[in-house]
Amino acid sequence: MSFQIALDGPAGAGKSTVAKAVASELHFIYIDTGAMYRAMGLYLDSLGTDLEDQAALDAACEKASVTIAHQNGAQHIYLNGEDVTTAVRAETAGMLASKVSAYGSVRRKLTSMQQEIAASADVVMDGRDIGTAVLPEAPLKIFLTASVEERARRRYLELKNKGQEADLAAISADIEKRDYQDSHREIAPLRQAEDAVYLDSSNLSAEQVVEKIVFLARERMS
Ligand code: C5P
Repeated sequence: MSFQIALDGPAGAGKSTVAKAVASELHFIYIDTGAMYRAMGLYLDSLGTDLEDQAALDAACEKASVTIAHQNGAQHIYLNGEDVTTAVRAETAGMLASKVSAYGSVRRKLTSMQQEIAASADVVMDGRDIGTAVLPEAPLKIFLTASVEERARRRYLELKNKGQEADLAAISADIEKRDYQDSHREIAPLRQAEDAVYLDSSNLSAEQVVEKIVFLARERMS
């Protein structure tokens, strides 16, 4: 039986940094489900699909191939065979993801892919609905959050460090908008699973969060 760690929380809470480190420490596979929604966002945008046209959306979802591969420990995401690992990181891809993720056809497609991956390997999977919808039976669920100010500050530093343009006020507004969209959608909204461990990382370093999660995982695996 595989062991799953479901890691949910709002945009910019540090989920991917933490999930990667936890996965590496425990020799688990890290699955970034946000990247899958980002790839679908880019795809539907490039096709100009009318999201309100159910038949068109279903047909587009049917044709989309979103796959994940691990190379030297890093996750690569492919959209219809093309490596979009870098493209999905753009802020615009994040907004597109947030928009398309409200639609049932998109969620059904990605949710079943995620469940398949988790059935055959030990995973740390991060997202918004992993503990509530994708892996409701996961033996360890974490809800990781931080204040909007702290999340915006981290995203700003991350972009600056990569040499990209960044505007703190715009990032903060984006984060608030995404939080709202993600927690108010009808299907699988962002919320803490009842049996999830709540961690606020505003005043914790990534290392401290990783340590806590690894400790809990080892405890539950034994
Ligand atoms: O985590 P990340 O910021 O990359 O996610 C981008 C968007 O994808 C989120 O704002 C959310 O709308 C959507 N998402 C989702 N369910 C997930 C992961 C991401 O709805 N499991």
